[in-house]
Amino acid sequence: MTRCKDKIAIVTGAASGIGRAIALELAREGAWVSVWDVNESALAEVKSAIEALGVPAMTQVVDVSSRSQVRKAAHEVVKAWNRVDILVNNAGICRMGAIEEIQEDEWDLVMAVNLKGTFLCSQAVMGGMKKQGSGKIINLGSLSGKVGGIVAGAHYSASKAAIMCFTKSLARELAPYGVNVNGMAPGVIETDMTRTLAAGDYSSYVAGIPMGRVGAVKEAARVAVFLASEDASYLAGEIIDVNGGQFMD
Ligand code: NAD
Repeated sequence: MTRCKDKIAIVTGAASGIGRAIALELAREGAWVSVWDVNESALAEVKSAIEALGVPAMTQVVDVSSRSQVRKAAHEVVKAWNRVDILVNNAGICRMGAIEEIQEDEWDLVMAVNLKGTFLCSQAVMGGMKKQGSGKIINLGSLSGKVGGIVAGAHYSASKAAIMCFTKSLARELAPYGVNVNGMAPGVIETDMTRTLAAGDYSSYVAGIPMGRVGAVKEAARVAVFLASEDASYLAGEIIDVNGGQFMD
């Protein structure tokens, strides 16, 4: 499969879960992948898994909420591989809690990682994409950003709603330069994040999902690959639901 052959991709938060699956699926399609995450100890395994698919990989310890770290990492990718064709803004953290109980520092942290991180990473690569007249940016929104959160806290849901709106603003700004910016809104996908939220028991979630099951990381990753490929060449500001029918709009 060669839908992304020799494309240079950055996937944030790719040490685990959906991000790891996206990194591997992009590699399967021929992309060279730079894996960014704060979880340093998990990066070596992802690098080997990508390289085993026959494409180059690099890993960087990056906190996406830090402008200096993001700038440095983006610069290193361009220095090593000359360009960035694909950015997947996947890094995210989820917190729960009633609004009255959310601490200010928790609110700020969720917004900094999820929303500011998406902004900073996009800003770091968009100049190069404009110059080369091509590029794909894919942002991870969420079903909770559409419906106000079911289990996740208001800070998480609000950050995801803002990411989906930011996706549209960025898409409008970059479409004239041949850069496609789109997003995804997953429902419940089985990862460490949702295993924690569900405390290992997905049965109450499954009850509201017409497909009768939660999603697998690969099912989210294949949608990201579509958005990163030329098959999505006429999409701008589109947010694709990946939720087994849990919510349709
Ligand atoms: P996960 O917790 O399994 O993975 C998130 C990754 O992001 C981890 O590897 C973590 O180390 C990394 N990360 C956290 N903070 C970071 C930072 N500051 N800088 C860089 N990396 C950081 O979560 P997941 O379920 O795979 O979620 C991936 C994305 O998909 C998130 O944006 C999440 O909000 C979104 N999402 C997930 C679901 C789901 O059901 N799993 C649903 C909707 C949206």
